[in-house]
Amino acid sequence: MADSFVTNSNILHRSFKARPERVVRASGVSLFLESGKVILDGSAGPAVSCIGQGRPEIAEAIARQVNQIAYVYSGARFTCDAAEDLASLLLKDRPGGLSKAIFVNSGSEATDAAIKLATQYWSEKGQGQKKYIIARKQSYHGNTIGALCVSGHEERRTIYSDWMSNNVTFVDPCYSYRLQGRNESTDAYVQRLADELEKEILRLGPENVSSFIAETVSGTTTGCVAAEPGYFKAVRELCDKYDILLILDEIMCGMGKTGTMHAWEQEGISGPDIQTIGKALGGGFVPLSGVLLREHIFEALAAGSGGLIHGHTFQAHPTACAAAIAVQEIIKKEKLLENVTAMGKKLGIMLEEELGPLDVVGDVRGRGLFWSVEFMRDKHDKMPFEPGSGFCNKVVARALELGLNILGNLGRTGQVHVEHVMVCPPYIVTEAELHQMVALLKQAVEDVSGDFG
Ligand code: PLP
Repeated sequence: MADSFVTNSNILHRSFKARPERVVRASGVSLFLESGKVILDGSAGPAVSCIGQGRPEIAEAIARQVNQIAYVYSGARFTCDAAEDLASLLLKDRPGGLSKAIFVNSGSEATDAAIKLATQYWSEKGQGQKKYIIARKQSYHGNTIGALCVSGHEERRTIYSDWMSNNVTFVDPCYSYRLQGRNESTDAYVQRLADELEKEILRLGPENVSSFIAETVSGTTTGCVAAEPGYFKAVRELCDKYDILLILDEIMCGMGKTGTMHAWEQEGISGPDIQTIGKALGGGFVPLSGVLLREHIFEALAAGSGGLIHGHTFQAHPTACAAAIAVQEIIKKEKLLENVTAMGKKLGIMLEEELGPLDVVGDVRGRGLFWSVEFMRDKHDKMPFEPGSGFCNKVVARALELGLNILGNLGRTGQVHVEHVMVCPPYIVTEAELHQMVALLKQAVEDVSGDFG
């Protein structure tokens, strides 16, 4: 076996060179390793463990459900209280007009379901030619073939290019730090993006466009970039004007991470037509994701074929739904969104003060407990690290040595090379823990910067 294959795991990971740390216990925001080391989970896995770990209430909810009904197939004739109650809890008061739910298992499955739902919707309405989806150049909506088709994540797409759909086209995201002109005002920038989207709709022909898909606050590719004020309002208006569905991906940024249950609530829009959720829905206790949709989409399907031309063996799994209800109840009972807002403000200030002045830190941005630090070789000229320098990966590795888990991403997406780390701890995080996390991250960045001279 080649020397480079040094993995000590029989489970395959993204890199076979990495030797994954074995976690033997987890509690609150801490991961306990086999080696005895304790790691602070500064990113809640990949923005998943929203209420932290080791909550007996969730174990009890799961046990109760398994004892009552472990499984029913929700694809055809059955449903159960857990699935119905979770849908009712999420759709209570019809947020943004969203009135029905589909529960699946991963974020990528939710993206696939959203794409298929939009496709079926137009087909049922006798407008099957409306098949183009406009997505954004820097974006990530998942790793299945369907989800990758609408993701502007070049590294993950390239070798599968033959599988990528010609029905997807890409426009610029709202990413002011890298893509706004130096002398361009916010209003002018937002207008430029709206014009670009409108031009693309007109190029394809509105009668051929199914939907526009975007992460409300970007995650993996660009790192916690909230849109500039007015951007989503302009997008919503264009979708309404040209009869195009707005699909918002809140798999990473949603379910409370930005301080409101749905990130779009802070965008001054009436809501999306279709919304995907995941990660913090089940808080990592179970794999669960979902698609929420507006009544008009349900009505079109009901009046048309009368069903969903889609489904999975484990959709609306009773145990997963029961666990998610318990997670969401804890968020409500313990007023954790208030903590997200309060701690989020403190985290932003700490990152600005501690990391912001470092030579390699170009930008610090975020909302709620969803923050990112973007690295630059030369912050004054906004010159990124050379692709291949591995700066961000080294920061992540050094942070882990020091006792902090954070999510890093580097890669060329669209027209820019981006390197950033995400700090998005569980909603239960305390100020003292935030201080520790920021100090460890700062140390990691300083240590790695030293090597980069
Ligand atoms: N959409 C967004 C915005 C994501 O960040 C992710 C995963 O990171 C996905 C979709 C895919 O979710 P999953 O990894 O659960 O398939």
